[in-house]
Amino acid sequence: MPLRVGLFGGTFDPPHLGHLVTAVNVRNVLKLDHVILMVANDPWQKHGIREVASAPDRLAMVQAAIAGVDGLVAGDDEITRGGPSYTADTLATLGQRYPGAELFTIVGDDAASKFGSWQRAGEIAKLSTLVVVDRPGSPMVPPSEFIWNRVEVPRLEVSSSDLRARFIDGRPLEYLISDQVMQVIAARGLYGSKK
Ligand code: ATP
Repeated sequence: MPLRVGLFGGTFDPPHLGHLVTAVNVRNVLKLDHVILMVANDPWQKHGIREVASAPDRLAMVQAAIAGVDGLVAGDDEITRGGPSYTADTLATLGQRYPGAELFTIVGDDAASKFGSWQRAGEIAKLSTLVVVDRPGSPMVPPSEFIWNRVEVPRLEVSSSDLRARFIDGRPLEYLISDQVMQVIAARGLYGSKK
């Protein structure tokens, strides 16, 4: 049986319960050997929209988030490569690392709805099986020129944007972000927390 590897890319600013519940459930449904939470070095789609925490800080948070969870891997290939992060390049790297593996590109449905504007979207669809997961609050339909596999995961109304807002206005973060990730945030003084 060829290895089955899921690529779940994101900014992870910060990683949250929604990301983790999605990763473990997609892994289970599609019987993937690994799901790689790939930290974008430079999320070019967010240019000019807001400041993003540094790539090493986001990688440290993802490493803490997945520590000890079977089958989840923190990916640093886009950071190692540097520059803007393009999924087609990342799939090519994974194809070399896991020769003969079946690759799956996993996206939430908000991300899937914008898939047509991704760089070299056709190449991504050729190199991998596209998987869209249901995400709360974004009832968009993914572009029909691509073939999508839909995976249902428990619907959790969590987003990194809401969590960043919670850091600013002091609303509770407990359970939405794991204790391990909170420790990294405190140690690195992220999102306005005191070192
Ligand atoms: P932001 O709110 O800053 O835009 P985000 O919460 O959407 O961030 P990203 O790191 O941009 O997080 O997302 C990475 C991937 O995770 C995307 O494919 C996105 O659709 C998906 N995703 C994010 N939140 C959820 C969630 N609650 N449930 C399922 N998928 C999610």
